[in-house]
Amino acid sequence: MSRSAHPAGPRHADVLPEGHYSAPPADLNALDAKVWAQTVSRDQDGVVTVGGIDVNRLAEEYGTPAYVIDEADFRSRARAWRTAFGTDADVFYAGKAFLSRAVVRWLHEEGLNLDVCSGGELATALSAGMPADRIAFHGNNKSPEEIERAIRAGVGRIVLDSFQEIVRVAHIARELGKRQRVQIRITVGVEAHTHEFIATAHEDQKFGIPLAGGQAAEAVRRALQLDSLELIGIHSHIGSQIFDMSGFEVAAHRVVGLLKDIRDEHGVELPEIDLGGGLGIAYTSDDDPREPHEIAKALNEIVTRECEAARLRTPRISVEPGRAIVGPTAFTLYEVGTIKPLDGLRTYVSVDGGMSDNIRTALYDAEYSVTLVSRTSDAGPMLARVVGKHCESGDIVVRDAFLPADLAPGDLIAVPATGAYCRSMASNYNHVLRPPVVAVHDGEARVIVRRETEEDLLRLDVG
Ligand SMILES: *Cc1c(COP(=O)(O)O)cnc(C)c1O
Repeated sequence: MSRSAHPAGPRHADVLPEGHYSAPPADLNALDAKVWAQTVSRDQDGVVTVGGIDVNRLAEEYGTPAYVIDEADFRSRARAWRTAFGTDADVFYAGKAFLSRAVVRWLHEEGLNLDVCSGGELATALSAGMPADRIAFHGNNKSPEEIERAIRAGVGRIVLDSFQEIVRVAHIARELGKRQRVQIRITVGVEAHTHEFIATAHEDQKFGIPLAGGQAAEAVRRALQLDSLELIGIHSHIGSQIFDMSGFEVAAHRVVGLLKDIRDEHGVELPEIDLGGGLGIAYTSDDDPREPHEIAKALNEIVTRECEAARLRTPRISVEPGRAIVGPTAFTLYEVGTIKPLDGLRTYVSVDGGMSDNIRTALYDAEYSVTLVSRTSDAGPMLARVVGKHCESGDIVVRDAFLPADLAPGDLIAVPATGAYCRSMASNYNHVLRPPVVAVHDGEARVIVRRETEEDLLRLDVG
């Protein structure tokens, strides 16, 4: 029944029963601070503003759909993670959640490190001036070209994901006359879901080397023998959109167990462990995420306790939040198009984007909320489904939404918490043009990723 790799974080079908929707909110005009970026509010005319700019102006200037990202909120969340973990730990932002050159600069300025998992992400990071030694390179199938580029650039670590990769990275590093810092990614048999986790002996997924059957220990043995590799630690990433820390507890216990075995067998204490990312955010008012300082405290306590029990020096911890930093900082602004009431069922509200700018609902049954933002309304709630403009009936943005019954074509609605895994997973399905990312800060807006044009489409299509 379970799919064990959830890179972008599904909500499992078993979390909510089929056809479930919560009651309409008491006030359809309210903006729940849990799901909206920090500077979002309504002005005296009832229009939603972000970074001091109202959404009507944003729509006029930049068009819809558009992702609107709150720079102050991004920086403050990045800083909160950095501060919570302090100088004895490293925070690597997971670039796959959303990466652009502006974001790289914000991260650099706020003292964070960066995870990349492809040549494209590496190129983006380097071109925006992220120091290579603050970049970690991930992926289960890095090409020889990507590996060579990463080593030449001087990335701080490559996270090795298979036996073949251990040899491959060692070989390329040797050819280049370098000694590359590496971690080995292991799977510890913990599958973390939103509100629960399952501890298993084996993990049936493509990432990492299983702890089970002594495979991870064998990988360590081989890496330690290769002069062109400097093995600095063990890496574990257990899932996505996690609220329950107990999965990390089991993972840390098993990683520390491996560190102890390594010490006993080889006489080396590896100096670092990476516990990955996967911390959950509020997509709807029903979600209650933890603050970075609570997460840092919990993880530090777990690792310290486990290491004391194993009589190991406590290693340096690193974490890799993606969604938890960028997710809440952005919303997607749409214009309402056609409105189709289906008697006794619900009202279908079509917007000018859809599964091409947010695939998570179709892919993972992800839940979102939606709010009328270009004005307030006194009308009662109508049960709606927000759908896109694609030729696909699964093209759903918000499955169960309550919007004011007087909603009309031309109104602007916004879906909050779309900062992670929306622009980065956006597609050109139906040759729909990918929306821009507009950053707002202190009364100013600027495009950080521009809207795709038909010219862009035709440039790739060489006839
Ligand atoms: C996806 C991923 C992350 C980030 O996950 P979030 O759910 O966005 O925090 C961190 N580390 C690794 C190895 C990942 O694959």
